[in-house]
Amino acid sequence: MAISTTLAGAYIDGAEHRNTGDPLPVTNPADGRVFADVAGGTADDVDAAVQSAKRAFAEWSALAVSKRGEILGKAAHHVEAHLDELIPMLTREQGKTLRDARIEITKAIDTLMHYVGLSKALRGAHTPNLDPGVDGIVLRRPLGVVGAIVPWNFPTTLLSNKLAPALVAGNTVVAKPAGTTPLTTLRFAELLHEGGLPAGVFNVVTGGGSMAGSALATHSDVRKIAFTGSTPVGEEIMALCAKGTKRVTLELGGSDPMIICEDADLAAAASAASMGRFYNCGQACLAIKRVYVFESVADEVIQAITTKAMRLRVGRGDAEGTQMGPLHTAAQRDEVAGQVERTLAMGGTLAAGGARPDDPDLADGFFYLPTVVVDPPHDSPMAAEEVFGPALPIWRVKDFDEAIERANASQYGLGSSVWTRDLHRARQAAERIEAGYTWINSRTKVYDELPFGGWKSSGYGKEHGEEAFDYYTESKSVVLRSGT
Ligand code: NAD
Repeated sequence: MAISTTLAGAYIDGAEHRNTGDPLPVTNPADGRVFADVAGGTADDVDAAVQSAKRAFAEWSALAVSKRGEILGKAAHHVEAHLDELIPMLTREQGKTLRDARIEITKAIDTLMHYVGLSKALRGAHTPNLDPGVDGIVLRRPLGVVGAIVPWNFPTTLLSNKLAPALVAGNTVVAKPAGTTPLTTLRFAELLHEGGLPAGVFNVVTGGGSMAGSALATHSDVRKIAFTGSTPVGEEIMALCAKGTKRVTLELGGSDPMIICEDADLAAAASAASMGRFYNCGQACLAIKRVYVFESVADEVIQAITTKAMRLRVGRGDAEGTQMGPLHTAAQRDEVAGQVERTLAMGGTLAAGGARPDDPDLADGFFYLPTVVVDPPHDSPMAAEEVFGPALPIWRVKDFDEAIERANASQYGLGSSVWTRDLHRARQAAERIEAGYTWINSRTKVYDELPFGGWKSSGYGKEHGEEAFDYYTESKSVVLRSGT
């Protein structure tokens, strides 16, 4: 059931822009109904956005860095004033609960404000007396037009992670949200502009990956692509960016392990596992995707996680009391269900879920029950592939060395966590696990203060932290001879 009006689909040069491509349906994952059509972006639309960003660059990059921060800060406050409008919009197009939508958008605004703060604190490098009367100065210059390609699981935070350091560093941005979650991003751009961000500094073109996404990644006036998404598409983007030696950062898939030792606070660890796996209906890059628990405490931990999974209230994201919403698309749900089925066909025990809910009110939505599988084979899909949904495998391990070995037996290296009261073991885990983040006795929270980025097939480059600026600037060494 398509609706009659097709929305314009792009925000370029401080105004709505009507894309020229085929309409893309926007579906409510809670009931499978199309509630909007959005015109898809073509290479021409992407070019219009890039040209706008290019025109805006000269003036924006010439502002004092603190002035850019001040402008972005005011604009971010304007977005914040519209939180109550954005939250249901995000729930409707993405599927997540209203609570998760509030957490997400609040975090997106926090990230903007974090870099606003850093705009007052950025210091440069100066080396006096390289030779008598000669000083060395390292300048940081913005890159130019940055393309930001973002997936559907956290449309606003994953955008802010790129937008904030890019803009504060003096770049201008063209973002391409996922074709299935365009609305919140378009409104976000409009609100930032209304709040004072100059026209052209931030533009959005919605559309499919192979059309608008690759047009952005191959545009000769784009100097960098900041990409978040799956590993196969990230590899494709990296290859596209080779032409013209574009800068690239890639935040890709993950299969984060959690190790629970016998001396851990078991109740807290089980809570963190359940929260880490089922938050956002399991559709998070950083999520607890594999649990390795010491044999001596395994039964207690498995029981605790399974009980939590079975008690989670699954329902529409906009319904009171819902703790876990639907998956984002039917295809995503079928993918996860298929991974669980193929795994169970190889072995392991189903401890919870493994099916769609039987509530007839949820029959048209893309729901899947919180699922726990115990001791599946280590080469089964739930061990070897990224599971991007609410299904958790748990394995018993005999000791710490086996846990570390299993944790590292993955092509991915995004996040990881360890639960133990033994400081030496915690330190060992932090050193030995091959991943960009290790949480010790902590749930999987991402801090703006710390650099974040995957090892191995989980990506390249960093977001967050002051380090993010390194990926949105070029450094230049200046030698200044002031003596005679
Ligand atoms: P995806 O790779 O299919 O799509 C991501 C974005 O890329 C979308 O905007 C899409 O339209 C675009 N795209 C697709 N093909 C393209 C192409 N050929 N050229 C240019 N753009 C293209 O990913 P998805 O399925 O939407 O998102 C889920 C994946 O994202 C998971 O693997 C997840 O782990 C990963 N992810 C990673 C992080 C992180 O920070 N590491 C965060 C969130 C999600």
